[in-house]
Amino acid sequence: MSASLNAAMRHTILAATTNPAVRSIVARYGDRLGAQRYAAGTTFDECLDVLEQLTARGFHAYVAPLGEALDDKGEIEAIVNEYRTILTRLRAAQLDTTIAVKLTQVGLDISEDYSFQNTLRIVDRAAQDQRFVRISMEESPTVDATLRTYRRLREAGYDNVGVVLQSYLYRSEDDLAELLEYRPNIRIVKGAYLEPDAVAYPAKREVDVAYLRLLKRSLSYGQFTAIATHDERIIDYALEYASRHNIYPDRYEFQMLLGVRQQLQEELIDQGHRVRLAVPYGPDWYPYFMRRLAERPANLLFVGRSLLER
Ligand SMILES: Cc1cc2nc3c(=O)[nH]c(=O)nc-3n(C[C@H](O)[C@H](O)[C@H](O)COP(=O)(O)OP(=O)(O)OC[C@H]3O[C@@H](n4cnc5c(N)ncnc54)[C@H](O)[C@@H]3O)c2cc1C
Repeated sequence: MSASLNAAMRHTILAATTNPAVRSIVARYGDRLGAQRYAAGTTFDECLDVLEQLTARGFHAYVAPLGEALDDKGEIEAIVNEYRTILTRLRAAQLDTTIAVKLTQVGLDISEDYSFQNTLRIVDRAAQDQRFVRISMEESPTVDATLRTYRRLREAGYDNVGVVLQSYLYRSEDDLAELLEYRPNIRIVKGAYLEPDAVAYPAKREVDVAYLRLLKRSLSYGQFTAIATHDERIIDYALEYASRHNIYPDRYEFQMLLGVRQQLQEELIDQGHRVRLAVPYGPDWYPYFMRRLAERPANLLFVGRSLLER
């Protein structure tokens, strides 16, 4: 598939995500479409089994209960409580798994301060076990609030928190420069949402080059860099850069998504690198699954085939 066809399909899939007819078909046939490949079940019990299996195979992991764009305080309270239960159960299971939080899952669509207070409750509870919390990065209109939340937590003395920068956004290099005073723990990603050309590089090649610029700066000046990609050219570059600049492996790790490029994940483990997998779970898998489809439009061929076979 050519780069331009890939880009067009990515755009079409992400745009179709909000279409109710698409949502109802995908929700109905999710299992047959392969949605379960990307998630560790719908309950934390199922997720815990996956975490234990991954740990036994030498992987690290972070847990992310699925869900985003919540605006019901009852649902948001349930998610915050779910995080607190996860933390208790991770401690009981003696797993070093970290957790990830999306601000729109804990109330950003209601107000920034409300989502901040909820994030604080999770981060504070995690700090009691010295457990790390990553605030994920969502669509571009949420970036300012996300970075302010990160800064507020750091200024309140929480060192167990990190943030994400997306290389497709023009602003990310400036954001990184401003964050460096915190000696941040940064995850670098290419970016998974549909963004206008006014805020994001339209061409994949530019996104990849911008990733390398962020990577070099974060590796050189940040406290810790989570290199989150399935792109082996970037992974090879990171290893070469780290070795050339004497950046030791305690300053970075590779991160990938459950169910994506498993052979590459295994190869990195076999070579002795630290690999942390994103392990999402929960019933609300639809938008997450659609972003995964958009990342590799060839996945749609499997989807089409499974629908034809029904
Ligand atoms: C651990 C982790 C955390 C993330 N957190 C965020 C976040 O907070 N905010 C955000 O906007 N984005 C996040 N992302 C998603 C990210 O922005 C990209 O959309 C995604 O990682 C795909 O880009 P890539 O770097 O793998 O490179 P690409 O160039 O897209 O892909 C590299 C190779 O991997 C293959 N590949 C990539 N994705 C898939 C897939 N779904 N199925 C099958 N093959 C695939 C491609 O075919 C290609 O061969 C995260 C990604 C990871 C790995």
